[in-house]
Amino acid sequence: MTLFLCPVALYAAPASGRVVRPSAHYGYRRMRADLTKLQARYPYTLRAGVIGKTAEGRELMAALAGAPGASRHVLIHAGLHAREHMTCALAMMQLERLLRRHVPAGFNFHILPMMNPDGVAISQTGCGSAKARAIYMDDLRAGYATPPRKEALAAWKANAGGVDLNRNFEAGWERVDTRPAPSGANYRGDAPLSERESQALAAYTTRFKMAATVSYHASGGVIYCAFGPDCPANEKSRRLGHAISKRTGYRLEGDDGTSSGGYKDWAIEKLSIPSLTVEIGDGPAPLAIEEYRDIWRRNRDVPYAVARWVKKHS
Ligand SMILES: [Zn+2]
Repeated sequence: MTLFLCPVALYAAPASGRVVRPSAHYGYRRMRADLTKLQARYPYTLRAGVIGKTAEGRELMAALAGAPGASRHVLIHAGLHAREHMTCALAMMQLERLLRRHVPAGFNFHILPMMNPDGVAISQTGCGSAKARAIYMDDLRAGYATPPRKEALAAWKANAGGVDLNRNFEAGWERVDTRPAPSGANYRGDAPLSERESQALAAYTTRFKMAATVSYHASGGVIYCAFGPDCPANEKSRRLGHAISKRTGYRLEGDDGTSSGGYKDWAIEKLSIPSLTVEIGDGPAPLAIEEYRDIWRRNRDVPYAVARWVKKHS
């Protein structure tokens, strides 16, 4: 008698009910637990792994949804700015939607749902390590922050070392409009890619031949789609931006020359990858949970819209 060995899918959790539920404080532990549950439920289409570790020991996660051998790669990341943590729930829900419905044939979606977990923890708990509290005291003295502390820390954008990770990439870094020292926001760091989080994101991006990248931020209901002088990657980013603007209803903006050092800037300038920054929501970050329904409606099919655009244009 031949013993037929069933693959691990036999033991996978039944695919009923949603795993990822948005909340005003969708945090690191929930994200980790949800990834574990999704992996158990979708063992053939989801691979998740650690791509780095923060200064406070939290793991930076990447989730890969796709079929082995698929040749097209799309990267979506969220939570690079701490107070914009609603983007983390959004990216996780997009991941689950891809798994529940289908991953477009020939595609790998690389979803990095929380690229600044230390900062997210500061924003969500309103407290932080001794270092973060010292940075807050410096911000108070410099007039960058106002008490009460809990509210000031809820608006924290940087990582736990006070570096704004979306000003830490090597694309016009030298002309970034920066605060002079570590701060809750807007300090570019001592050098490009000085931080573990930006290093991990850059290294992961270059491991695959990405056809497009989407960086989720908040807020403003706007899509930024260009960086620097005209070039083929800018032109493609603009066309991709049009497609995603149509899908989401967010307005499209080019490069007004005022910001640099961002991930999207680097992906366009240094890697020639069509890339967008999508700013969800209207109110100040952290966004109110009441905004989520509209945000989800606008963004739930963005991965499919990106895949359609990539298929048509590459
Ligand atoms: Zn942001």
